[in-house]
Amino acid sequence: MLAKEFYNEISDESKTLALLRRYGLLDEEQSVSPCHRCSGEMKDTRKRLRNGEFMPVLRCRNRGCPTFRSVRKGNAFFHFTDLINKVNCKLSLCQILELMFYFIEDLSYHQVQGLTGRGTEAICDWFNMCREVCTVIVSVQNRGQMMGTEEEPVQIDEARFAGRRKYNRGRMLQGDQAPNSTDSDAEMNNNRNHGRRIDGRRVFVLKKGSDCRYFYVQRRDRETLQQIIQREVAEDSIIHSDEWPAYSNLNHLNFRHFTGNHQQNYVDPNTGAHTQATERSWLDAKVRILKKNERLESKNLSISP
Ligand SMILES: [Zn+2]
Repeated sequence: MLAKEFYNEISDESKTLALLRRYGLLDEEQSVSPCHRCSGEMKDTRKRLRNGEFMPVLRCRNRGCPTFRSVRKGNAFFHFTDLINKVNCKLSLCQILELMFYFIEDLSYHQVQGLTGRGTEAICDWFNMCREVCTVIVSVQNRGQMMGTEEEPVQIDEARFAGRRKYNRGRMLQGDQAPNSTDSDAEMNNNRNHGRRIDGRRVFVLKKGSDCRYFYVQRRDRETLQQIIQREVAEDSIIHSDEWPAYSNLNHLNFRHFTGNHQQNYVDPNTGAHTQATERSWLDAKVRILKKNERLESKNLSISP
């Protein structure tokens, strides 16, 4: 949708209400719950605000009953309550939708602030709400298990999303890899070299075509990774990976597992195994994170005197 069309749709509060009802995001007049005082039917009406604008509200049909109610009452998204169960949203429906529009457009807080005039806290709150909705949608959808075929195998890989070392802060340890463990992170805080290794979070990725699933993992040892693989990948699937020892048992778990050694060649000449797609998705993810960080950094610089 073009911004022009969108703003046309939300030019006033009643139009916005109609739009939300059309998409089933707010209850229609017929289906709202009855009056809490007299159980009478509620009907649409308008209420004049102090600034002279009109706001759509619901009013009890029964004569003599003074019940007015907001059209968004009871809606989990538009009538959201904070941690102490207080409704303290001062934005109108148009203003909330405006923020949602920019959320979908993936603009930075700074840009949204400039375009809408809302404060950072309001933007942050509403963007978090939108993110929560996205999370719920993703987790409710049963994605099913991935089935790796010969044409399209499941590629798996893991990477560390560590921050860069800056201004010589944070220590680098030299000998903190346990030689006989499949998990290089097992001996992380071992007090050798008088310090802690700077460490980012490990991310494990499974990728098949456009289906790309990321998981944060504490360790990249066999137990952790196998659990995820067995949950997400269907049995008898073809899996491609690098030669990380944690994967060595996959053939015994009813998967058909092929490895490629990156140090020798990117695509294994015998099996055709490679993890180019996952390497590519790392790049996407890291570029995204880097961009976000740069935005934050530039913001910090502009704020500091
Ligand atoms: Zn009533």
